[in-house]
Amino acid sequence: MSRYPQDHKMAKKILIFICLCFFGCSWAAAFAAAAPSTTEATTEGRRLRVVTTLFALYDFARAVGQDRVEVTLLLPPGVEAHAFEPRPQDVMRIRQADIFIYTGSSMEPWVDDILGGMDRSSLIVLDASEGQGATSDPHIWLDFSRVARIVGAIGDLLAREDPAGALFYQQNARAYQAQLAMLDQAYQKTVRACSARTIVFSGHSVFGLWGERYGLRFISPYRGFSPDAELTPRRLAELISGIKKLNVRYVYYEELVDPKVGRVIAQETGATLLLLHGAHNISRDEREQGVTFIGLMEENLERLQTGMVC
Ligand SMILES: [Zn+2]
Repeated sequence: MSRYPQDHKMAKKILIFICLCFFGCSWAAAFAAAAPSTTEATTEGRRLRVVTTLFALYDFARAVGQDRVEVTLLLPPGVEAHAFEPRPQDVMRIRQADIFIYTGSSMEPWVDDILGGMDRSSLIVLDASEGQGATSDPHIWLDFSRVARIVGAIGDLLAREDPAGALFYQQNARAYQAQLAMLDQAYQKTVRACSARTIVFSGHSVFGLWGERYGLRFISPYRGFSPDAELTPRRLAELISGIKKLNVRYVYYEELVDPKVGRVIAQETGATLLLLHGAHNISRDEREQGVTFIGLMEENLERLQTGMVC
């Protein structure tokens, strides 16, 4: 026998029906909002949708497009960029974008597969490594002269796709290039004024192009361009011995990776750990603070000044 009276049972059925209706309708509305409609296939009346892989590219697109453009960073906060593997929702974001900007196939080897399996008739793809000369180092966004070319390409692309904002985009791109030139001069000046030319970096090989530009020698325990590159105990022992001979007082570590190796080097040599941010990606806290690529590079310069005996 039922523990509930008949009218209670009926009331419960009605309540379930109302709930199903309510959630069903809400979900239907949510899906309708998320799905790209055919009338939105043109950019008329709405902002251009730009999706980028790395934080640096996201910040360049944001600086050039500002409020005329909707820029999405594919990497979730705090995720290490070389280890990133796109999720189904990331593929969907790229599919729904007008413009997709990535660094190049050596930084994001997964891009070719995704684009290969996609209808690209309404998607414009900007490979930032194109026109940057031959280099096996994927960290092109850390060479400010290369960044100036990337920013120029973003400005030209936005101007072409949204001609009404062409002047706005081109002015923003030029203003950003001027900021980069000032940053570049500040780095050149600092390097000239400092006596140390060797930087011990406990992360992966991020700053090779940077080092070439400013005449700095980066010593890294890793041989490869990714944080999961192999590190042997022998290599670490050699490095510690070399650092002791050089009398290095500061050891730098990279963002978003636990600096285990840096701590070992610091303990063994008595050096102090300092962050050198590669701007691949940012943490949730940094995102909430509204950090920018230029801001991160200015902080890097201050920390370099500390370590380069200026
Ligand atoms: Zn890297």
